Amino acid sequence: MREAEILMANPNSVQILVTGGTFDKEYDELTGRLFFRNTHVHEMLRLGRSKVSVDIRSLMMIDSLDMTAQDRNLILTSCKDATADRILITHGTDTMAETARLLGEAHSAELRNKTIVLTGAMIPYAFGSSDGLFNLGAALAFAQALSPGIYVAMNGKVFGWDNVRKNKATGEFETVR
Ligand code: ASP
Repeated sequence: MREAEILMANPNSVQILVTGGTFDKEYDELTGRLFFRNTHVHEMLRLGRSKVSVDIRSLMMIDSLDMTAQDRNLILTSCKDATADRILITHGTDTMAETARLLGEAHSAELRNKTIVLTGAMIPYAFGSSDGLFNLGAALAFAQALSPGIYVAMNGKVFGWDNVRKNKATGEFETVR
């Protein structure tokens, strides 16, 4: 059995929803381009020796700058439908705050008892020196420890959905107010 074994529909598992972002990009040595293949989340959890039960589901593998309203709606409905009440979403950093806001502003009864944490990386995990492993571990812990709500976890910090933005000049997440 893999350590990060997938436990389907176990309400005590953390539901991980994969959406792509730099976190999961690969480098094509021949073309010099970044592209998507499969998620690295299983491998990252194994390398991190995670003992947390997770159910990993890939919703999409896209750059968040290409995310449409339909894509965001899929994330929302997947959170509503999840049997787990602890959810971690991997997401591109450029529009992570936007998706967090959509989930927060949904004021959905199905989300009321859920702790949802979005995280990502500025450098692809596949580059070998990514912030993704650190962010994934922190987000997994935040998802289990925080009370119900929608959060963004990056660089060891955690922000509420209604008070976070990515500072495009510094590349860091910060509060708005
Ligand atoms: N453009 C990427 C995205 O938002 C940037 C990142 O993930 O850091 O998907």
